[in-house]
Amino acid sequence: MATIVAFHAHPDDEVLLTGGTLARAAADGHRVVIVVATDTMSPASDESGGSVPDRLAELRASAEILGVHRVEHLGYADSGHGPVLYPDPPGRQRFARAGAEEAAGRLAALLREERADVLFTYDARGGYGHRDHVKVHEVGRRAAELAGVGRVFEATFPREVIVRLVRVIRLLRIPFRYDAEALDTAYSPRCAITHSFDVRGFARQKQAALAAHRSQVAGTGRVAPVLRLLVRLPVPVFALLLGREWFADASPGRGSR
Ligand SMILES: [Zn+2]
Repeated sequence: MATIVAFHAHPDDEVLLTGGTLARAAADGHRVVIVVATDTMSPASDESGGSVPDRLAELRASAEILGVHRVEHLGYADSGHGPVLYPDPPGRQRFARAGAEEAAGRLAALLREERADVLFTYDARGGYGHRDHVKVHEVGRRAAELAGVGRVFEATFPREVIVRLVRVIRLLRIPFRYDAEALDTAYSPRCAITHSFDVRGFARQKQAALAAHRSQVAGTGRVAPVLRLLVRLPVPVFALLLGREWFADASPGRGSR
């Protein structure tokens, strides 16, 4: 049995990109570990002064539903997605500002401790381009090198699927602000994807794991209306939309990407 470590930027990323695959791996008897780089919701939430939701508790609830064995946090703060990179919150560094070598060292220590066989990370675009996701790609790749992990897979979506999903969202008149230009270069083209997993059998778990991120679903964030719709869908419809997950094999020795 293998040990799989899934490295993610923020709590909730583990569900949409890899939730079904992690649930399937755990059900097959593999050891599954989630490492998240950041915890807080956004730079804005640091300054709200109000109650900041416990994103790590939500992540742990999601992980439990997926059958994940261990959850770790690298200790960085969310860098936010937008033109401004806010100052660091007290006592912590935003992930985008972290030294890549230092962050990779922290992740590599966990990979060694777990004797990880497989590392999941992100594509070079960082999916939709969030600076923390780009950093996950950079740090993940270096950590795999440092720890000598043989198999590295970059979780992604086929760009063509994203474009289709956005069309559906618009058709349903769900309020969703997005940058049409960014969409053209987001995630990976189909030709870059090496693995596509059918996870429809784990759709119920994936949907429940998504719902466990209560603050995101109930929140006022950009994607909250979409999340609210997803968690309310009948399971077969959810499975139709999110019953497949995609990876690009970026294992060392496959040539530089
Ligand atoms: Zn994220």
